[in-house]
Amino acid sequence: MTITSFNPATDAVLTEYDAHDAPAIEQKLERAASAQREWARTPVAERMALLRRVAQALREQKAGLAPLATLEMGKPLAEAVGEVEKCAWNFDVYADAAPGMLQDQVVPSSATDSRMVYDPLGIVLAVMPWNYPFWQVMRAAAPVLAGGNGMVLKHASNVPQCALALEAVFQKAGAPAGLFTTLLVGSGEVKRLIEDHRIAAVTFTGSTPAGRSIASQAGQALKKQVLELGGSDPFIVLADADVEAAATVAVKARFQNTGQSCIAAKRFIVEHAVADRFVDAFVAGARKLVVGDPMGDGVTQGAMAKRNLRDELHAQVEASVQQGAKLLLGGKPVAGPGAFYEPTVLDQVTPDMTAAREETFGPAAAILRVADAAEAVRVANGTPFGLGAALWTTDLDHARQLTRQIDAGAVFVNGMVASDPRLPFGGTKESGYGRELGVLGLHEFTNIKTVWTG
Ligand code: NDP
Repeated sequence: MTITSFNPATDAVLTEYDAHDAPAIEQKLERAASAQREWARTPVAERMALLRRVAQALREQKAGLAPLATLEMGKPLAEAVGEVEKCAWNFDVYADAAPGMLQDQVVPSSATDSRMVYDPLGIVLAVMPWNYPFWQVMRAAAPVLAGGNGMVLKHASNVPQCALALEAVFQKAGAPAGLFTTLLVGSGEVKRLIEDHRIAAVTFTGSTPAGRSIASQAGQALKKQVLELGGSDPFIVLADADVEAAATVAVKARFQNTGQSCIAAKRFIVEHAVADRFVDAFVAGARKLVVGDPMGDGVTQGAMAKRNLRDELHAQVEASVQQGAKLLLGGKPVAGPGAFYEPTVLDQVTPDMTAAREETFGPAAAILRVADAAEAVRVANGTPFGLGAALWTTDLDHARQLTRQIDAGAVFVNGMVASDPRLPFGGTKESGYGRELGVLGLHEFTNIKTVWTG
């Protein structure tokens, strides 16, 4: 099997790799297992020293790493640079915080001493997507490694250069050989990997159908899993919001990363009283986006990562227009080579339309107008997803009440949903389960052991 690195902005093949065959996989898993056994016995302070060296290696190599993401999945270069910097920050945050997170927790009971201790689980298999080809992997890797585990990466097949570059970052940082291992394999190999006795747990980020499949395989193998799946995040703007500020942030929340983010705002749910003002400001902001060669200066929207995903997005836009949505901006692929799509805004969307019911993974915004806050929450919750949500209002007491009524793993008030290494991140409903980042992200992949002494 061949794994092809392909530039979605030019349609050019960049390079091809032979997928790892069974003997290579076996050898890499053995090496990973032996590295992890040693790592589990390595003092926490030494583990943290490696995390810091990884952060440093990322910073030193960002000029070489960032273009790989741009070339393989089409994001603007400036966004790719920011992504590498965020990965480095994540490793520093855990290097500072993980020793505290891993300290024994004494819990008084009838024992002379009773406590929880955090032991490593083993090797965590990471099945990762292409949309943030560095961040998705590295936000998972920092807590996993801090906890004394190893990581085996099966990255998305369209970003093999990024996958290999990450393995090289760990080598450069002086990580034990095999502690972080990239396998170049297709998704057909994942089931065997999950079943392999050297794999202890699975972390997956990607589509809901792939998540279902991995969850059932991991369930069958009785292996711990964390799933971060799709989303159709609401961005609620109430009548008392700072509408202009909301519209400015809304443009970024929808169109950054060319709209290909699980936590992108996808449904803009706006109270009638301010809807026209919001829509005017939002469309004006979206018009200013510069679509073009993602390597180019000043470009703010690159190519979509895959042509088939662009076709799917276009079908969703066309279906919504047929169902009665009003097209205010864009609405079609950009002619010529590359998987470019016009920044698109659909107004007068109703909850039954395709753009509201399905996840739109690209640069297309759906605006739904509602009568009041109660209807906004009802519409926000009217989806199988539950990843993030944004809520804009100047009444913070009201906001606090509403945040508890919204079905999501995170609600951001007067801001856009974003991951932060210090805070837990994850979803509810069909957006998945388990938490990444923060203290919970580290504890997910530990054996939380009760030690009772009489
Ligand atoms: P997928 O979910 O198909 O791919 C993500 C990862 O899962 C890749 O490594 C892929 O490998 C692997 N994979 C795919 N199917 C299986 C399977 N049945 N068993 C095991 N592993 C599997 O994402 P796509 O690239 O196809 O994108 C499709 C949709 O997924 C998007 O439109 C979006 O809705 C969602 N998505 C969500 C993301 C998020 O951040 N939550 C990120 C990316 C996509 P391989 O590449 O080899 O197929």
